Amino acid sequence: MTNFSQFEFRNLPGFDQNTFDGFDKAIPMKTLVIYCFDPRAAEIPKAVADHLGDEVYPGENITDENGVRIGHTRTLFALSNGGGRALQSLQSIATMDYLFHYQNVVIVHHSFCGMTSYTPELLIEKFHTHHHTDISGLWDHEDMAIEDYEKTIKHDVDLLDHSPLVPKHLNLYGFFYEINSGELTEVVRVPASERSAS
Ligand SMILES: [Zn+2]
Repeated sequence: MTNFSQFEFRNLPGFDQNTFDGFDKAIPMKTLVIYCFDPRAAEIPKAVADHLGDEVYPGENITDENGVRIGHTRTLFALSNGGGRALQSLQSIATMDYLFHYQNVVIVHHSFCGMTSYTPELLIEKFHTHHHTDISGLWDHEDMAIEDYEKTIKHDVDLLDHSPLVPKHLNLYGFFYEINSGELTEVVRVPASERSAS
């Protein structure tokens, strides 16, 4: 059995978690893009990188003389989940802030997303019928489906704006992406200087 602890940063000689100040020198992360894992929406990270400009995506590995991967040139990280929703992304947003000094969080919802095919009430009802469970009180109904793109994109950016897991130095963006034309439309932007107090 392999001793996996040899693969942990904490156990590397010379690595001190108490003086650790981020992995920015290894990977210059600037932006986190949150989008749907629908394969038809796979081009979203590249589209956002092109739209924002001054981003590297996908970039390439940086290796040392022994072929060890010591970094990457990518600046834009991509995080996908069902719908490209803010709620499911909070954990990554927070932990990435510990590891990198990044600047932007971008939420992207796309045309003909599966999440527009039902209402929260239907989802709750189906769970009740098929799985005999009540999920109605588990999370905000606005996070269960996409009933109106503009509202949902604003809801997600607002959720990030008010979450203690999303540090106030981060700029927030909300975009709509049309999967057939590849067009990206900015719906909402909250720069760090305009972030809410709580
Ligand atoms: Zn989708």
